[in-house]
Amino acid sequence: AKRNDIRNVAIIAHVDHGKTTLVDELLKQSGVFRANQEVAERVMDSNDIERERGITILAKNTAVTYGDVKINIIDTPGHADFGGEVERVLKMVDGVILVVDAFEGAMPQTRFVLTKALALDLPVICCVNKVDRPEARPHEVVDEVLELLLELDASEEQLDCPFIFASAKAGYASLDPDVKGTDMKPLFETILSHVPAPEGDSEAPLQVLISTIDYNEYVGRIGIGKVSNGTIRVNGEVMLVNHHDESKKQRVKVTKLYEFDGLNKVEVESATIGAIVAISGIADIHIGDTLCDVNNPEAIPFQKISEPTLAMNFIVNDSPFAGTEGKFVTSRHLRDRLYRELNTDVSLRVEDTNTTEAFKVSGRGELHLSVLIENMRREGFEFAVSKPEVLYKEDEKGGTLEPVEQAIIDVPDEFSGAVISKLSERKGELRNMTTNASGTTRLEFIIPSRGLIGYRGEFLTDTKGNGVINTIFEGYVPYKGEISYRGQGSLIAYETGVSVTYGLFNAQERGTLFISPGEKVYSGMIIGQNGKAEDVEVNVCKTKHLSNTRSSGSDDALKLSPPRILSLEQAIDFIETDELLEITPKTLRIRKKILD
Ligand code: GDP
Repeated sequence: AKRNDIRNVAIIAHVDHGKTTLVDELLKQSGVFRANQEVAERVMDSNDIERERGITILAKNTAVTYGDVKINIIDTPGHADFGGEVERVLKMVDGVILVVDAFEGAMPQTRFVLTKALALDLPVICCVNKVDRPEARPHEVVDEVLELLLELDASEEQLDCPFIFASAKAGYASLDPDVKGTDMKPLFETILSHVPAPEGDSEAPLQVLISTIDYNEYVGRIGIGKVSNGTIRVNGEVMLVNHHDESKKQRVKVTKLYEFDGLNKVEVESATIGAIVAISGIADIHIGDTLCDVNNPEAIPFQKISEPTLAMNFIVNDSPFAGTEGKFVTSRHLRDRLYRELNTDVSLRVEDTNTTEAFKVSGRGELHLSVLIENMRREGFEFAVSKPEVLYKEDEKGGTLEPVEQAIIDVPDEFSGAVISKLSERKGELRNMTTNASGTTRLEFIIPSRGLIGYRGEFLTDTKGNGVINTIFEGYVPYKGEISYRGQGSLIAYETGVSVTYGLFNAQERGTLFISPGEKVYSGMIIGQNGKAEDVEVNVCKTKHLSNTRSSGSDDALKLSPPRILSLEQAIDFIETDELLEITPKTLRIRKKILD
């Protein structure tokens, strides 16, 4: 049967194209904002890091009501290290809204998620937003979007996508790019007509696949997912089953059940097919679990959660500068915070080490871990981190296996040569290359995870910021041998914060920069793009030698001598010696000037 009173859609947008404003406006017009409720309470507000990096890190849910129909709107993650997880979110919905700025057009960052949506046969609605901008060029943007859909192998139905021309800011949408609308009705109506109502059998045995986990201090873990079949009831018993883990099976009781309503979760007594529900009270609930009928438990298959492939030690900052920059500096602070993160981040692993000063944190890639590091820094945590190391495994014969990734890269044609040569040096194998009419090339590589370490910054430099790279864990393969780097693009140093990874140096940046033995610092990192040495000021404190690559000793960062100020030349000399250097937050000062 169909649930004509529900529509489930995902929203895909490049940061700043107006997703938040649009959803706010839909909420406002659906009557959710009451007179005394602050409109400023934004639903899908991106956090600072998302804004800086142009990616969505957290998936958020909201629901708007139009007439008798509840429209669940789900934000899609665009995190490059979470390629595999986009799919899970998209499986909850029956259509997507692509929001595109009427001036900027479709941005490469949205291609990856869009490709996944197209592959899942979801219908697309394109909302060309900001048509009020004086420089808006909606007609051209329509052509560009259609070209993009063609390029990404959209089906005929998908190519027949409706276009809505909106000014989220002014609160209107229109079917005609040259006619100003009066309200959001055209968008609401298009969602209703173009996105199919969810289907299922409300009498069949229950199936709710948990797609996201939320966490709340008071109620603990909250599982969120769509009811595919059957009916879920408060106080009812259900079987918790996992498609990949038979041993997990257990009877649990649903203590609280919620549906989304505007900005909130509201408690409900029961929910049936098509509803997106949140369930609290099940302590052991995880992404990928299915809540089933106790008598007919049948788990819904799902794509396995990507394994962590990269680990770093998070280390208490015991430098003389400790506490001058942040509020939380103790081992206890660090430990509590890291373990708390596990409640919502399924791809993360945290382990104690043999010292209380350090914790081993494993994640999906450098970007994944650096987002965590940067978030913690902004919350006032002060700590050091070790060089990232990939997680190796042993095969049955005792041989070494290493993780490899599929890297999907979109770049303007003129940069593809540079990318191919860099990734080949890093032991990447080019599997596929397609050139599109719009002047971009898509490159698909299989590459050892370690070959991607430190690459993102170089990639952005090599493509002048115009490239996009997404990675998906592929599997473990026999170790491919040492990677040797040459030339300018040498693997350099690991900056823990956002800035260096992205080449955005500025005076406010803080972070701990580790440079490991034998590696040289080239322009682009410490020195800056133009290599102007005199503009850089670095304080370096000598630390104990870090055991190289494959071990992950936890006593890595014992400091031996107090920091001292070095000139850049000295610093470089130093770096080329066999020492591990730590440049502490207070002391890494790279003036913005060098960027100009
Ligand atoms: P998000 O990052 O996609 O969630 O984008 P926001 O909704 O935060 O919007 C980014 C910026 O674009 C904000 O400054 C908005 O005020 C502005 N904006 C959003 N929609 C419109 C629009 O329709 N017209 C104009 N001119 N600006 C808009």
